Amino acid sequence: MGQKILLEHAQVPGIKTYEIYRKVGGYASVEKAIKSMTPDEVVEEVKTSGLRGRGGAGFPTGMKWSFIDKKSGKPRHLVCNADESEPGTFKDRYLMEYIPHLLIEGMITSSYALGCNLSYIYIRGEYMWVYRILETAIKEAYAAGWLGKNILGSGFDLDLHVHCGAGAYICGEETALIESLEGKRGNPRIKPPFPAVSGLWANPTVVNNVESIAAVPWIVNNTGAEYAKIGIGRSTGTKLISASGHCKNPGVYEIDLGLSVDEFMNSDEYLGGMMDDRPLKALVPGGSSVPILPAHLIFKNAEGGDRLMSYESLSEGGFATGSMLGSGGFIVYNDTTCIVRNTWNFSRFYHHESCGQCSPCREGTGWMEKVLHRIENGHGREEDIELLWDIQRKIEGNTICPLGDAAAWPVAAAIRHFRDEFEYHVRFPEKIKNRDHFVAEP
Ligand code: NAD
Ligand code: SF4
Repeated sequence: MGQKILLEHAQVPGIKTYEIYRKVGGYASVEKAIKSMTPDEVVEEVKTSGLRGRGGAGFPTGMKWSFIDKKSGKPRHLVCNADESEPGTFKDRYLMEYIPHLLIEGMITSSYALGCNLSYIYIRGEYMWVYRILETAIKEAYAAGWLGKNILGSGFDLDLHVHCGAGAYICGEETALIESLEGKRGNPRIKPPFPAVSGLWANPTVVNNVESIAAVPWIVNNTGAEYAKIGIGRSTGTKLISASGHCKNPGVYEIDLGLSVDEFMNSDEYLGGMMDDRPLKALVPGGSSVPILPAHLIFKNAEGGDRLMSYESLSEGGFATGSMLGSGGFIVYNDTTCIVRNTWNFSRFYHHESCGQCSPCREGTGWMEKVLHRIENGHGREEDIELLWDIQRKIEGNTICPLGDAAAWPVAAAIRHFRDEFEYHVRFPEKIKNRDHFVAEP
């Protein structure tokens, strides 16, 4: 049984309300930080914890915080990225919906550490009901004196706003999110400069994922050193995983990083094995942007070592034999899954969500979708497989933001590991047209 840091109180009746949240010890980290720690000491604790960005990139949070320009004299901002839109990822929604005050507490403690007096939570437009839950919780926090002027008589002021997006995946990319918050079209900016130097209204800005910010109260209350004891190697702490697909118990789980993939997938405490006991065919461990793994690479890496739920272990072997922990969107596929159809579905998504600024992404995502669509519908040509490979290669690394890579990697991995299915599709179009295509012939 792993530690519960984020979800410990998630099922306490009434925990959405300030009263109950406070009764279980809520807002203690704000008190501790403001009354007995300097902002730099809070930053140091987060550095010591080894916490890494939970949105998907895994960038060290404390290091990101230490990049923020404190010398310019400009106002600084903390922006929480709650634009959770990665297909297969729904853990931030769970956290905000069930324990909204944990995020608000994390925002206050983190804003204090960074010296921000105006902070934002940018939430995806489709989470409108969660937006309302956050609005209510923020009102309660203002009424109780945790937000506003002179918090706890310390002289520290903080205003916190929730801003609702309008349904664009690209606004989860941090610079597109900032553009959107400024009232503009959500087009990603070229980095550098990174937001820590020039972000919202050209002010130093830290953008952190919901789950990262929600981990800060525990770190401040229990120390970074205690947090760093959980997990494995450079993958410290706990991680929320949203599991979906053909497993027995889909849902949101908090795991200690370093748990084996085998235990996560097969023990009754977590996913409980495969739905209807059908064979496992493939796994996307970290949201649609990361490479798909075929069954033989899920529990063991290419060297025969156990595959663990950690940033390092899931990426062992690079993309040839590994994948990524990413955002923790864990999608399980059984033997009835058509990999070509799944890849087309992802491609369709990225094509739709491309902002269109750079041509490799704008043209390439559309082209890949078109080719995959024809293969999936029995109109593919043998040379289409090489064509797809060529297009994805020309997108990867040649775009302004990671959406281009995110569109390319699933296609590359599907061809790399399931080429036989693509070939089956182009060689037996009649079977494909009759939808007789779920399992490739040996
Ligand atoms: P990134 O590696 O470019 O950046 C990570 C963070 O570190 C950013 O905040 C960036 O500003 C900061 N950073 C990196 N180098 C820096 C430097 N030298 N100075 C200052 N700051 C620096 O990745 P990203 O674009 O933030 O995220 C990509 C990831 O997002 C993908 O891996 C994907 O898994 C994930 N993703 C998640 C969702 C979701 O819904 N959770 C959606 C889409 C993508
Ligand atoms: Fe826009 Fe795609 Fe370029 Fe990102 S990679 S800036 S989404 S066109």
